[in-house]
Amino acid sequence: MAPKHLPANTALQAAALLAATGARLTRARIEVLAALLRADEALTHHEVERRLRRGQDVDRVTLYRVLEWLTEQGLVHKVSGEDRIWRFSAAGHRPARGSGHAHFECSSCGKVICLDQTRLPSIPLPAGYRRRDVEVMIKGSCDQCAA
Ligand SMILES: [Zn+2]
Ligand SMILES: [Zn+2]
Repeated sequence: MAPKHLPANTALQAAALLAATGARLTRARIEVLAALLRADEALTHHEVERRLRRGQDVDRVTLYRVLEWLTEQGLVHKVSGEDRIWRFSAAGHRPARGSGHAHFECSSCGKVICLDQTRLPSIPLPAGYRRRDVEVMIKGSCDQCAA
């Protein structure tokens, strides 16, 4: 068995995750999810587009739709960096609700990664307040920029 973070075949893994939703399997859904599973950082639309396998190009409108759909399905989550551009990640996904992990953004290269090994503590709110989202972004330098 390959370790979970080194999938032997991300297209197969993507197909299995999609099949579990009961939704229709399309080539675009499989390719986009596979590209996110292969990535070790959260990717913008543009970065996903560039990382699709050669010959597996997906037009831009389809790509936007597929990314939103994957997010709605809880297979992917999105996070925005300081530039307010959405980045998508397939790491640490779990069915919506309390998406529970922090992110790290490199202030030099703009890379955003999921810190999904650690769950966020639950922070109590004043009486009557309701939580909608929790976003924790740690900023600093990534290993490459700090070197
Ligand atoms: Zn960096
Ligand atoms: Zn994340």
